[in-house]
Amino acid sequence: MDLLKSSLREISTAVKNKAVSAQEVTTFFQQRIQKIDKKLNSFVTHNEQALRDAEKIDQKIQKGEDPGFLAGVPVGIKDLFCTKGLRTTAASKILGNFVPPYTATCVQRLKDQGAIVLGKTNMDEFAMGSSNETSNFGTCHNPWNLDYVAGGSSGGSAAAVAASLVPAALGSDTGGSIRQPAAFCGLTGVKPTYGRISRYGMIAFASSLDQAGPMTKSVDDCVFLLDAMCGHDSKDSTTSTRAWEKLAPQKNLKSFKFKVGLPKEYFEHNIEESVKKAFWDTIENLKKQGVEFVDIQLPHTPYAVPVYYMVATSEASSNLSRYDGIRYGLRAEPPSKDWGSLDELYSVTRAEGFGAEVKRRIILGTFALSSGYYDAYYAKASKVRRLIQNDFVEAFKKCDLIMGPVTTSPAFKSGTRINDPIQMYLNDIFTTSINLAGLPAMTVPVGLNAQGLPVGVQIMAPHFAEPAMLSLAYGVEEVSDMKGRVPHGL
Ligand code: GLN
Repeated sequence: MDLLKSSLREISTAVKNKAVSAQEVTTFFQQRIQKIDKKLNSFVTHNEQALRDAEKIDQKIQKGEDPGFLAGVPVGIKDLFCTKGLRTTAASKILGNFVPPYTATCVQRLKDQGAIVLGKTNMDEFAMGSSNETSNFGTCHNPWNLDYVAGGSSGGSAAAVAASLVPAALGSDTGGSIRQPAAFCGLTGVKPTYGRISRYGMIAFASSLDQAGPMTKSVDDCVFLLDAMCGHDSKDSTTSTRAWEKLAPQKNLKSFKFKVGLPKEYFEHNIEESVKKAFWDTIENLKKQGVEFVDIQLPHTPYAVPVYYMVATSEASSNLSRYDGIRYGLRAEPPSKDWGSLDELYSVTRAEGFGAEVKRRIILGTFALSSGYYDAYYAKASKVRRLIQNDFVEAFKKCDLIMGPVTTSPAFKSGTRINDPIQMYLNDIFTTSINLAGLPAMTVPVGLNAQGLPVGVQIMAPHFAEPAMLSLAYGVEEVSDMKGRVPHGL
């Protein structure tokens, strides 16, 4: 079988039927990583146990035991999910030597179904960034053009899957970190409803926004991974008790009679021509499939980025206070013989262990939460957050789903925005409001621009309406110009 073109369901079926062994699949992708990843820098840690794990799956199959429905499917895990015995750093120097004593629930659920973890993928430090350039391991390159960024913060997961170094990967999305790199690398990426997937064992950035999700080459591959990961977890009280219902692919859009909202505010932005064209071409194609489109309004859209950067940095400043050089992770060397005080230990360690972007956010968030400024910044942002949520409640009275662009442009060149945080933050204009509202949303790739860079569209849904969102996504994929396209020249 051609493992480069196989879906996840095809791989696991072939493994279960002994057409190929889990060990052969693992070795195949490990060799690709060996050969190609020098150019991309998408993996930061390899799982030396992967082949042994694959052997166990093969043994189960030999004995006639159920290996799980993801039997032998290799996955890459963003380096912010804890993996027992396997270094987990959040791409930060401060966690450079951290080996977790436990595994994140979502990773465990993939493993329980027979998936094989090949390694940990590159990312922006603590998931703070949109280009993978804040990583302590260095930038990760876009497989479609190595001069361009893979996106962020889940850049390593996106680049690895796009280059077929692994058929699927896990990302996390606090303000767009699954959807934006998926768009930049030509992938499908799903950010589920807040509470669909357990955050247990996921290194926290902004706890009220963080959500894990799959990044793959097709809608169905994402669905397959969601089937394993979604659902209540007693270790995360914010997970929903709603059952996740398995979805059968239904590509005939006509039967759904979807009414899809187009937010007028999204098109008042300066969107690059190729993104606009790909978007409107998709809309025209969907109309032919019986999808109805209505104009809607999300009037608080202009506040999404400032509100997000208040809420996210405030939560981050609190979450990251645990990295103090005492409990785990890096402890700096004392400047003289011994530490003068505990405060000195903390501050020298944190100054050495965090990168510039993370420091900027800790300072911003600490300021926003400080007494005297709390009401003016954090409390105000929380109120506007509610207005952003209300926008969606009103909009979904008029439509089943919403569509819009993911970003204002395709991938940008490495080095062009990293020194201008405002420019970098503005990149998140179409993705952050979804996290503030806790809604599910996803990227579906629809084509390549004239420079050969991928362009995606975004589908947004009401809380827990992933089945409708994914059903439309199957239809978008059918009319897209992206099927079977892979980057060349690696
Ligand atoms: N780009 C956004 C940020 O820098 C989103 C990051 C994310 O979703 N983790 O915060």
